[in-house]
Amino acid sequence: MHDKTLAALSQALQSKTISSVELTQHYLQRIEQFDQTLNSYITVTADLALEQAKAADARIAAGSATPLTGIPLAHKDLFCTQGVRTSCGSKMLDNFIAPYESTVTARFIEAGAVTLGKTNLDEFAMGSSTESSFYGPTRNPWDTERVPGGSSGGSAAAVAARLCAGATGTDTGGSIRQPAGFTALTGLKPTYGRVSRWGMIAYASSLDQGGPMARTAEDCAIMMQVMAGFDAKDSTSVDEPVSNYTAELNAPLKGLRIGLPKEYFASGLDAATADAIHAAVKQFQTLGAEIKEISLPNAELAIPAYYVIAPAEASSNLSRFDGVRFGYRCENPSDLTDLYKRSRGEGFGDEVKRRIMVGAYALSAGYYDAYYLQAQKIRRLIKNDFLAAYEQVDVILCPTSPTPPFKIGEKIDDPVSLYLTDIYTITANLAGVPGIALPAGFAQGLPLGMQLLGPYFSEARLLNIAHQYQQVTDWHHRAPAGY
Ligand code: GLN
Repeated sequence: MHDKTLAALSQALQSKTISSVELTQHYLQRIEQFDQTLNSYITVTADLALEQAKAADARIAAGSATPLTGIPLAHKDLFCTQGVRTSCGSKMLDNFIAPYESTVTARFIEAGAVTLGKTNLDEFAMGSSTESSFYGPTRNPWDTERVPGGSSGGSAAAVAARLCAGATGTDTGGSIRQPAGFTALTGLKPTYGRVSRWGMIAYASSLDQGGPMARTAEDCAIMMQVMAGFDAKDSTSVDEPVSNYTAELNAPLKGLRIGLPKEYFASGLDAATADAIHAAVKQFQTLGAEIKEISLPNAELAIPAYYVIAPAEASSNLSRFDGVRFGYRCENPSDLTDLYKRSRGEGFGDEVKRRIMVGAYALSAGYYDAYYLQAQKIRRLIKNDFLAAYEQVDVILCPTSPTPPFKIGEKIDDPVSLYLTDIYTITANLAGVPGIALPAGFAQGLPLGMQLLGPYFSEARLLNIAHQYQQVTDWHHRAPAGY
């Protein structure tokens, strides 16, 4: 059963070839079998899942099912799930049972999807390898000595190892696209404001965006149909009509103009990844696309700007974790200051503390103009680069990461080398434009990812282009050995 895509499982459920209870039990059994090694789940909600599966089977029998009714999914453990621990990969929230449901997970529940559990992530989504989680690193099913990427590495590993049919992720600087690339999945980072952030624990509010991670573009389209849409509870949610993502998957690519940003193919890009993308370019040409070299001249400024803006917002967002209202509280505080200091000191891990310090510094009087304001100006230049590019081309094709997945521990003592791996993904977050990552090939058994970036609200087109590519390639059908 687990070899089927989400779309195929949906059909099997609707035609009653399988039941949701059978399917859910099957995934729960696989989690038991494989997740000791992979560590892709922080919490498995077996009882809840079986209860939801039963209800889903009844709904299918009653003829009121949606395409997601009965489909077992997993959610990144920063979406608040009512009555279920929502840890954000942090000791700070290890004891936090969310009292409400995030809009995204509520929409999946309403559609009848099953929640298998909550997936591992870098602490507060800060990282690119899932190694900064309080719950230990997640392993990549393609090579368990290697990272699955991050911060949505738990979701990526769980989908890649067939421990769920699809999963949610969030992308602040690449956390959907980079792990999708590292595990041969398809992952969509929507336009900023397309998917509600309500109940999604904030890292950097002006950059965070939730999205689907699944095996294929079609699967992502099915999930996106439920995730997208205006939400009055999120003031940054955009009131734009939602496309019919699955209906648009089959549009032809003839005449599509694809731009290759020359800055993204310069030094530092691994040769196998570059070759894979050039092969993909040929496929797109065969499908009728025209290729053009373009320039995103300010791309090299993206990392320094992002690593000022994201920590600045994080330092503000994370100030709510003070040991008073919820979350971790130190033992026997001597006074209020001691309570704050030790609760935060003991509750947060090293990477989170580093970001809080960098962010507080960049926002402090005297440094604000020199760092934060400058970074905001660069952000505008990067946005302008995209706007200029989309005058010439419809979408941009580029790698997701400079290298294939690296070894666990390889970059852990050198945070800057880890930050540099975000080079190809963070520009889209700074500009707010959507991007889809999809598998482009393999090198020595390791997945190589590519991404397509589009103009604001071009999710349907991006899914369509990825789907057309997946009709003529089979990278997305390959499974890691043993899974
Ligand atoms: N790696 C980036 C960071 O650490 C992006 C993480 C993300 O998208 N959540 O900030």
